[in-house]
Amino acid sequence: MESRLGKLAVEALFPRFCIVCKREGALTCRHCFETWTPVPQQASCAFCGTPGSPRTCASCREETYLDGLSFFAPYGNASVRELLGAWKYNGDRSAEATLETWLRRASTRMEPPAFAFYSTSVPLHKSRRRERGFDQAETLSSWVGEIFGIPHETFLIRKRKTSPQARTSHDERRVGEMDGAFAVLPGVDVPAYVLLCDDVFTSGATMDAAARALKEAGAKTVWGFVIARG
Ligand SMILES: [Zn+2]
Ligand SMILES: [Zn+2]
Repeated sequence: MESRLGKLAVEALFPRFCIVCKREGALTCRHCFETWTPVPQQASCAFCGTPGSPRTCASCREETYLDGLSFFAPYGNASVRELLGAWKYNGDRSAEATLETWLRRASTRMEPPAFAFYSTSVPLHKSRRRERGFDQAETLSSWVGEIFGIPHETFLIRKRKTSPQARTSHDERRVGEMDGAFAVLPGVDVPAYVLLCDDVFTSGATMDAAARALKEAGAKTVWGFVIARG
């Protein structure tokens, strides 16, 4: 009861506005919740932006492990970025519900190549997970499992705490800040085709380090799946 009253007081003091159309009331108004979808993006290499295919291009392939990337929206989209932040840092369940609904609606155009994939996620460090109480990428992997009708399992652990991905840059990728950041869980038999989920892809350093760990443990194809791509 007390928390409900507290929530009402907070809502009175800080009214919410729809992050898409700015109408007052909720984080996303009913209309935007039910209808909004990002403008489809041209397929391109996730690392260098060469247009044509969501596969990693031949020249980036020489120094990366991730085979390709499917994504929901560009990271430049302010509405999606705001929802991701509200969910991740404030644990906002309405932001989570909106993203899940939007993702399900857009699933046909995000379909990964047709292999017998297993869905998994780029894990948070366990201390960060404890702090937040949940792991956004793991939740995404469970949605992806349901949407595409594939198994969803945990294969990786994060060995070191690293700076949040939003701050990693191409420079850090070059100096290999993420090298050895991930390891396959003991006793896990990594399947040949893995769909690797994360919330955002910016420089790609984090996801590529995770893809590397999976490939070194036997994965043949590692395809990325993110909500927002930089
Ligand atoms: Zn709206
Ligand atoms: Zn490329």
